[in-house]
Amino acid sequence: MHIGGEWVAAASGQTVEVITPTDRNQVIASTPRAGAEDADRAVRAAREAFPAWAALPATERQRALLRVADDLEANIDHLATLTALDTGNAIRTQARPEATNLVACFRYFAGVSTEVKGTVLPAGEGQLHYTRRQPLGVVAGILPWNSPLMIAGFKVPGALAAGNTMVLKAAEDAPLTILELARICAEHLPPGVLNVVTGYGAEIGDALVQHPGVDKVSFTGSTAVGLQVAAKAGARLAHSSLELGGKSPCIVDADSCTDEVIEQVLLASRFARQSQSCTTGSRLFLHEQIHDEFLDKLVARTKQLVVGDPREEASDIGCIINAKQWDRVQGYIDDGLAQDGVEVAYDGRPALQVGPPGFYHAPMILTQVSNDWRIAREEIFGPVLSVIPWTEVDDAVAMANDSHYGLAAFVFSQNLDRALGMAHRIDSGWVQVNQGGGQVVGQSYGGMKNSGIGRELSLEGMLEGFTQIKQVNVKLG
Ligand code: NAD
Repeated sequence: MHIGGEWVAAASGQTVEVITPTDRNQVIASTPRAGAEDADRAVRAAREAFPAWAALPATERQRALLRVADDLEANIDHLATLTALDTGNAIRTQARPEATNLVACFRYFAGVSTEVKGTVLPAGEGQLHYTRRQPLGVVAGILPWNSPLMIAGFKVPGALAAGNTMVLKAAEDAPLTILELARICAEHLPPGVLNVVTGYGAEIGDALVQHPGVDKVSFTGSTAVGLQVAAKAGARLAHSSLELGGKSPCIVDADSCTDEVIEQVLLASRFARQSQSCTTGSRLFLHEQIHDEFLDKLVARTKQLVVGDPREEASDIGCIINAKQWDRVQGYIDDGLAQDGVEVAYDGRPALQVGPPGFYHAPMILTQVSNDWRIAREEIFGPVLSVIPWTEVDDAVAMANDSHYGLAAFVFSQNLDRALGMAHRIDSGWVQVNQGGGQVVGQSYGGMKNSGIGRELSLEGMLEGFTQIKQVNVKLG
């Protein structure tokens, strides 16, 4: 782990083995199994570094973050390869874009760091009333395993640009790229500004959430854990923001049975990330008029996707993270197949060319799904797409909103009034119209309902999430 500018082991001396998703028998690293003592050490290091870092002119922090960005960019191939090995995300379709995205995030937040500004009230002669936007202090960032570099990009540069220092907890299943991020940041940032710890959530994660020296917890992970994190942080009135799970609707109108829309829906399905993405458009609402034709075309394109070694450029789809997750996906498939009326539009499993010892899984498309079945309600985090036909816009919107989640949504219609009408009525933090790709650096990103609280990735996310306002009223003269 990297704490206070030094590489350290866990105080207990214990470690956690990291297994690559490409081979269940291959231990590729062992990382420190940090606990409460390590949390304390990391928080102390961050606290010690805080006053000097916060006191720097914004332009100085900006220069440091831009140097980090340049160095990350010089290491993109290395970071992408490591991501593929660590997470199972395919290098061309996912791992390299994630590393590229991280660089873009560092540049974006470096750029907007001078926008952390206050306001002046028209308080009359003899009075100067102004606000300062101040950093919160020490931010604990807690990361999931699915896209560690990308999500680190949502948190680290924004928190640091605003003058906070950080303790970043890597996910136990995919910690390696985050340790590389620590190595690169250490070349350009003062010791203690970014500290990276590893280990289990119930140990080091919980210790950070409960540590009195942590001013804010920025958590990305499951809703179940997020609820605990918010409750524990709230119990001591620490700030928290939560980026949680999703069950995102993807609505396709009767006028949108085109090859271009098929490609975008394929992106939204996040098959290329084994659908291990919180923004997966996992419920595909197809207008009844185009249901059969659209599905035929979608299946034909899905068949062309290559499931293979995530380190190979030819692979479109890599591996599921671990055995537990792989089994979980099977459980959902079995449950879906057992429902009355379900139809299998595509099951890629029999034709799969790769398998154990890697956790490979082909896409599966089920149709005539009911919105109240488990496969349509719960986050599967595997390449299983549920297709639900619709005829009336009101029904499509009602089904889209009939979910505990509200993270992302996708709407496809050539009629912009209809598309925007749906977009505005869907209860999701992010709606895309006529496209299915990923987040764009600078956009507001975050969930409604059980998908979370708070926004990241944007200037307003940085201001609201990583600063606090102080009002200063001065009597002049
Ligand atoms: P998870 O909730 O199991 O773990 C996330 C992180 O929290 C890990 O680092 C884990 O060690 C830590 N953790 C676990 N228990 C903890 C505790 N009691 N206290 C503090 N920390 C604890 O999630 P996961 O399985 O790693 O990731 C998958 C989930 O993340 C999915 O639900 C997915 O939708 C969600 N996710 C959300 C977003 C988003 O931006 N909304 C992005 C990616 C993933």
